Formats: sequence, structure tokens, C-alpha cells
Amino acid sequence: MPGCFRLAGTRISGRQGAPPIENEFMTDTDNTPADDTPHDFIRDKVKADMDSGLHDKVVTRFPPEPNGFLHIGHAKSICLNFGIAAEFGGTCNLRFDDTNPAKEDETYIHAIQDDVRWLGFDWGDNLFYASDYFEQLYDWACDLIRAQKAYVDDLSAEEMREYRGTLTEPGKASPYRERTVEENLDLFARMRSGEFEDGAKVLRAKIDMTSGNINLRDPVLYRILSHPHPRTGKAWSIYPNYDFAHGQSDAIEGVTHSVCTLEFEDHRPLYDWLLDNLSVPARPRQYEFGRLNLGHTVLSKRRLIELVTENHVAGWDDPRMPTLTGYRRRGVPATAIRDFIGRLGVTKAYGLVEMSYLENTIREHLNTSAQRRMAVLDPVKLVIENYPEGQTEELEAVNNPADENSDTRMVSFGRELWVERDDYMDDAPKKFRRLTVGQEVRLRFAYFVTCTEVIKDAAGEVVEIRCTYDPESRGGDSPDGRKVRGTIHWVSAEHAETAEVRLYDHLFAEEVPGKERDWLEDLNPNSLDIRATCYLERALRDAEVGVAVQFERLGYFCADTDTKPDALVFNRTVSLRDSWAKAK
Ligand code: ATP
Ligand code: MG
Repeated sequence: MPGCFRLAGTRISGRQGAPPIENEFMTDTDNTPADDTPHDFIRDKVKADMDSGLHDKVVTRFPPEPNGFLHIGHAKSICLNFGIAAEFGGTCNLRFDDTNPAKEDETYIHAIQDDVRWLGFDWGDNLFYASDYFEQLYDWACDLIRAQKAYVDDLSAEEMREYRGTLTEPGKASPYRERTVEENLDLFARMRSGEFEDGAKVLRAKIDMTSGNINLRDPVLYRILSHPHPRTGKAWSIYPNYDFAHGQSDAIEGVTHSVCTLEFEDHRPLYDWLLDNLSVPARPRQYEFGRLNLGHTVLSKRRLIELVTENHVAGWDDPRMPTLTGYRRRGVPATAIRDFIGRLGVTKAYGLVEMSYLENTIREHLNTSAQRRMAVLDPVKLVIENYPEGQTEELEAVNNPADENSDTRMVSFGRELWVERDDYMDDAPKKFRRLTVGQEVRLRFAYFVTCTEVIKDAAGEVVEIRCTYDPESRGGDSPDGRKVRGTIHWVSAEHAETAEVRLYDHLFAEEVPGKERDWLEDLNPNSLDIRATCYLERALRDAEVGVAVQFERLGYFCADTDTKPDALVFNRTVSLRDSWAKAK
């Protein structure tokens, strides 16, 4: 059913004309009528904790690993964490989870901050790095060793996997599990000082090799890695892993609600075990929600990195990428992304959101905010035979018909115009309301014209459309009240700006890439269509980079970062209608 939201299948679709979806349909735990503040099970929990006096102040955090750019899935986590903090008068920390220097980079640290700010959130002074806590984390690891709750293991990664057991078989103890406290402290200190090769030893928690939860079968806490760190340089030869760094960092920062995605649900017992066994300054709790999955794209950093490094796209900010920097370059307003995320709500269900749902939200935003302009992307010449040679005039055009207080601009008009090739048809059927010999149409904001003939080349391609105009119809209405059946857009040939326009389509042809074959084979070979010679009205010369305008009848477009005064480049942000829905 078009324009519907199916709760049972947890698939969210949004065809053209989909009504705005209220939050009340989106939550799985309550039926509170939708109002301005969102409701979901995590916010309910925060509210209950505040009402019961468990905390004075809510502290959340968004904890990106600086090993890639942020994607729209991260936006869900950002909106949730910063949103909760704002709604409850608390704070949200931006914490870089920089525990794997082999994959992390300073460039990502800057890009992530830019993107969070662009999305509209502010962490104030609360910018932190897990690497700031390395010394404290090391001390806590030594405490665990002293309490005989951690040991240095010499098993190889492969042996460790064998010893770990499976979901149906218990694991078995490493031969190194019963090392003495003294031996463990000595070995761990020597791991730190760089005495051993990468991978030669690890520090493991000593919990339970028979636990039904594999994460509790003596999980690794530290590994040896002789790799300089972007912030701590060569100070460390060992690095804590996610599990050991995350909860303790939350505790150091006084995080009250540590909100993450469902794949960490099985790690929660370990998160709790560590906090319960260390003398931490606070006791955060972890809550999990379902990650965002979006059709016709991939939201995994590992895959996005591969798209960039293998040159399947032009970079992290390629407008086809589901990255925040890609959407920004494409002309998507940050408010549209926030609104999209807000409408999805927060649940524990696995959900696949159709790309059309995001696109419709973008259209809705741009429809009210974007200025209208005229541009011709597949140009053919139109000559008005009875319009005086050499004459030009300025016509008034409204900037946004969706806004009744809209201002206007002047558009130049002349004898020769560019119009869209598909606005003309030979022997057109009755329902074709545009140019065909003998039919009168309106040129938007200008005059009525009647097509008299077309000139074709040897191959039968139309090279020129000839018309006559009615000088009485200036502004687009005739004094005798006669009606025309269609209105087309145009650009004056003499005044036109030439531009390259890049039309984007889904990056992946399949809705779920990799379902049937290797995910890269599902890349859409037609995701980028470059129109080298398009004609734009003069006002577009001054279009602000990244700010979308509507090209009348065509879609929303914005000047690209590649644009130059003598070589304009525009991106299509989104078409006016969902062409995929039509094609299906
Ligand atoms: P990926 O899974 O894309 O490779 P990641 O989850 O390892 O990335 P992080 O930098 O660790 O990336 O993510 C920071 C935060 O964003 C985490 O709390 C993570 O749960 C959340 N997050 C990542 N992807 C999504 C998603 N698709 N939907 C919602 N939240 C997400
Ligand atoms: Mg992660």
C-alpha cells in the first residue's frame, strides 16, 4: 500500500504523498499521543530515573570511533543522545572512542565534529577522548589482576578461538589462566613497555569459560599493538579494547544512560561485570535500540571505507554516499535529516527504512523552503518568429509559490530560448499538453506561444522549434481569458548560464546490497548521470553552494563544491517525484 507504515513488518515506506507519520505509531512501549516531545522506551526510562531521584542530571554521550566519516545511521544515535540530554536539561558528551590507532586518524576527528555541528548539535565543553583515560584504565586493569580477576594469556588468536567453545559447547581454560598475581602484574607491565611482539600476549578478564554468554568467557581486555596513536603518540604499546574502555569511560564522565545499538546487548553483562568489579566513580547503565538500516545503500563504516578507497565513489562526500558530508554536499538540509530520524522513532525492532521515505522528507522540507529557478537540462532551441530580433525584456518571476509572502526576481526573455527536448512531441496524443505543431502553451512567467513547425537534422532529431507568440499574454495570461493546457519552463538563450548538472540515483540497484551476491556487484551502474551542457537562468550564477533550489518542474538542485564562476556545477538533491515507485 503506498504511503504506509507497516508496523508488523517494521518496514517503513514513504511514497509520494505519504502523510506525515506521528511518533505515536512509532513506539513499541506506549501510546502517548504525539506532541512536540518524542516518546520511546529509552526516554521513558530516563524519565523514570529522573522522577525517582536516581540522578540529578542526565548525562549521555555519542561515542564515535574516529575511523571513518559519520553516516545517517550515526545521525540516529546523535539525535537520540543529544535529544535526550536537551529534553531533560542534561548534557551530551562527544567522546572519541580512539582505542584502535591502527585504523584511526586525525582527519576523521575533525570531520566528525564538523558533521555533528552541521546536524545542529553542540557538546559545549564536553569533548572527550577515551585515550585521555589510558592511564586510569591501565590502573584498573592492574586492580583486576590483583583481585585475581584478570590474567595475561599467551595463547595465539587461533588457539583462543578454539578454547572459547561455541554457542552449544562450553569453552575450556587456557593453560595460562592460573598465573600468579605477581607474574601477571610483571607481564602486563612488560606488555606496556613494548617488550613483546604484537599479538604475543593479551590481558583477559577471568570470568567463566562455561558461560552461556560467549562475551563472558574470559574476554580480552588489552592487546599489544606497536602503532603510534594520533593523540598519545608512542606512549603506549598496549591498547584497551572497546569493552574495557567503554563502560569505564562512561563512569569517568558520569554518564547516566549509555545508549547504543542492539549488537551490544550481549556485551551488557560484561559492561556490568567490569563496573561492578572496579572502583569506578559512578554507575552508568547501558540501553540498546535498533540501528537504522536504509534501503539501496550500506551503513557500515567498513563498507563505506571500501567504497572510498576502491574508488567506487569520488570520496566520503560524494553526494551518493549516505554520509552526513555527502548529504550536505548534495543539498539536503540538516533539518530534513533530523526530522526523518525523529519520525522513525526508537524501538528495539529490526527495521528497514525505504530510501523513498528519506527522499519524501527531504522533498517536504525543500518544498516549503527552496527558492524556484528555471533551468533546462536537455536543451533544444525554441525561436519565436514574430518576436523582434535583438529585443529583450525582463519578466517578473515569483521565488516560492508555496509561500504567499514570497518575493520575486527578474528573468530575462528574448527571441531565442532553450526548452526541454521532451516538452515537444510530433503527432502528440490528446493528453500531451505541451509543444506540438498547432498547440498553444504558456511559457512560465512570460507569454503564450503556438508551435508552428520544427526543424530536424538528417537523423530526424529536432534541432529547432518554431513558434509565434501573443504579445497580449505578457506575464502568462491572455486578456481574452482563453486557456492553455500546459505551462513549460525555459531559459533565454542570450542570457543563459551554461552548467554541468549531475543527476544522482541510488548508489545500489538492490534494496539490500549483498543479499543475493557480493554486495559490490549490486552497485547501481547508473547512479551518476552527468549532463555536461545545461542552461540556467542568470540568478543561478549566484546560487550558494550546498543550498538547494527547485529547478521548476525538474527537482531540487544545489551548486556543488566543484562549482567555479566560469564552470558552474550543480547536483540534483532529489527529484520532484519518486521515479522508482513509478518504475516498479
Ligand atoms: P559501523 O557499524 O557503521 O561500522 P560503528 O557502529 O562501529 O560503525 P561507531 O563510530 O562505533 O561506529 O558508532 C558510534 C555510535 O553510533 C555507536 O553508539 C553506534 O551504536 C551508533 N551507530 C552506528 N551505526 C548506527 C546505525 N546504523 N543506527 C544507529 N546508530 C548507529
Ligand atoms: Mg563501534
